[in-house]
Amino acid sequence: MLRLGPIVKSKCPNCEKGSVFASGGNILKLKGPEMNTTCPVCEYKFEREPGYFFGAMFISYGLTIAQAMAVYFIIWTIGVDLSVDMIMLIITLVLVVLLFPNFRASRVIWMYIFTKKKI
Ligand SMILES: [Zn+2]
Repeated sequence: MLRLGPIVKSKCPNCEKGSVFASGGNILKLKGPEMNTTCPVCEYKFEREPGYFFGAMFISYGLTIAQAMAVYFIIWTIGVDLSVDMIMLIITLVLVVLLFPNFRASRVIWMYIFTKKKI
């Protein structure tokens, strides 16, 4: 069963102590998150094979769609009368802000799905 706490904190799927990312990235500086190659605590290799994180793209897609729908329903619930263009602009801005958190979360979720804890 997937535990949510270590996933949210981007911890190693093997030991749940070491950080997966050396830096979280900064959207204002256009600097993406930097991922450690191995866990600093247990030396677990994160990218198990070339192209391992290709599947994380599908997790990211699911997260993005869920967030876009959530933003739309929040706007709809508030009842503000906005044009479709304005709603799309708001959704786009929210998704741009969540770009790096989604990147990190999708990779961590992907690793947690396919990693058996050895400890
Ligand atoms: Zn570890």
